[in-house]
Amino acid sequence: MKIEFSKHNITDEDISSANQVMKSLFITTGPRVAEFEKRFAAYLSIQEAVGLTSCTGALHLALLRHGVGLGDEVITTPMTFVATATAILQAGATPIFVDVCAKSGMISPEAVKAAITEKTKAILPVHLYGRMADMRGFVKLAQEHDLVLIEDAAHCIEGIRDGVRPGQLSHAACFSFYATKSMTCGEGGALVCKSTEDASWYRSARHHGITKDASYRYTKKYEHWDMEMMGWKYNMDDIQAAPLIGQIERVDRYREKRQHLESLYRELLMEIEGLEFIEAPEKGEKSGHHLFTVLLPQKVSRDKVIAKMEDHGIGCAVNYRAIHTLRYFREKYGYRPEDFPIANEIGSRTLSLPLYPKLSEEEVRIVCQTLKKVMPSL
Ligand SMILES: *Cc1c(COP(=O)(O)O)cnc(C)c1O
Repeated sequence: MKIEFSKHNITDEDISSANQVMKSLFITTGPRVAEFEKRFAAYLSIQEAVGLTSCTGALHLALLRHGVGLGDEVITTPMTFVATATAILQAGATPIFVDVCAKSGMISPEAVKAAITEKTKAILPVHLYGRMADMRGFVKLAQEHDLVLIEDAAHCIEGIRDGVRPGQLSHAACFSFYATKSMTCGEGGALVCKSTEDASWYRSARHHGITKDASYRYTKKYEHWDMEMMGWKYNMDDIQAAPLIGQIERVDRYREKRQHLESLYRELLMEIEGLEFIEAPEKGEKSGHHLFTVLLPQKVSRDKVIAKMEDHGIGCAVNYRAIHTLRYFREKYGYRPEDFPIANEIGSRTLSLPLYPKLSEEEVRIVCQTLKKVMPSL
């Protein structure tokens, strides 16, 4: 028996739409990317979506577009994937971490407010495990202090909190279509925003800053192109876009399945002594339910739990060890674990269990029974 930590949802139709692209003459950024962008923006009820190669690239471009660069500080969370912070570094700025709330694992507007300095240029909240950060609180703070607000929405395509969806209150929201995310094409990303001018800047910046995109050369007579601005190489291609288009239709159905499985987990795991949870989404709030994590008792060795679960054929993961405790950040900034004690504690106790639409209720029961069996012995 094997219960994988993660399984994607690519269907035969998704594969055949990617195949159709590959059988055609034109395989890079073209009509499928444009269609994906239109539908993804419509799904999120937002004006613009731009197809990119990763969420990291999306964050990088969003920071650059809004003037974040050398000498600027960007306030963010240490309880995230490293990409949130490396995108800030790529833009030339400095990530400033603030500690998270124990209940949600996310940073709050109050904590961010206390960290604002003259150098602060932007706030970069992360929607952790599928729940949205307090965007109403963050936009108020950003407006008061004239700051840029960018969302790392890699965990949350589907969420709504206080009537707000990703992208609606910020300068840009950035998404990932990496293999484990709720929509995927292996590697990919997108950015959404309200401004048409921003979107056309992003479309130029994702492709070397040149005036004509690749599809132009196939559909029109040859004309010289020019380079108008500094650009990068972050353009999504039609092979990536094609399988994503169909997934937009299914994303809410999959979310409901994960929500159901998460409630089952919470119910079944309640009886395990010492096990704690990040709080469930509030009533009226819609979470993406991207990951389900538990907090193991302090005295239990997480590494041993993971190894034992693997011995029983169950894949687990850690999302995340707080990034200020990782070697690069420790050495560069001299951080100690206790600098952000709550993030450090969550990071040292957290364990992610399998959560995906193909997971059966029976498998959830097996995961819970196995965890219950292995924990006391460690
Ligand atoms: C996956 C992830 C990213 C990076 O996404 P890529 O598409 O791989 O660049 C960034 N932030 C968070 C929170 C993530 O989970």
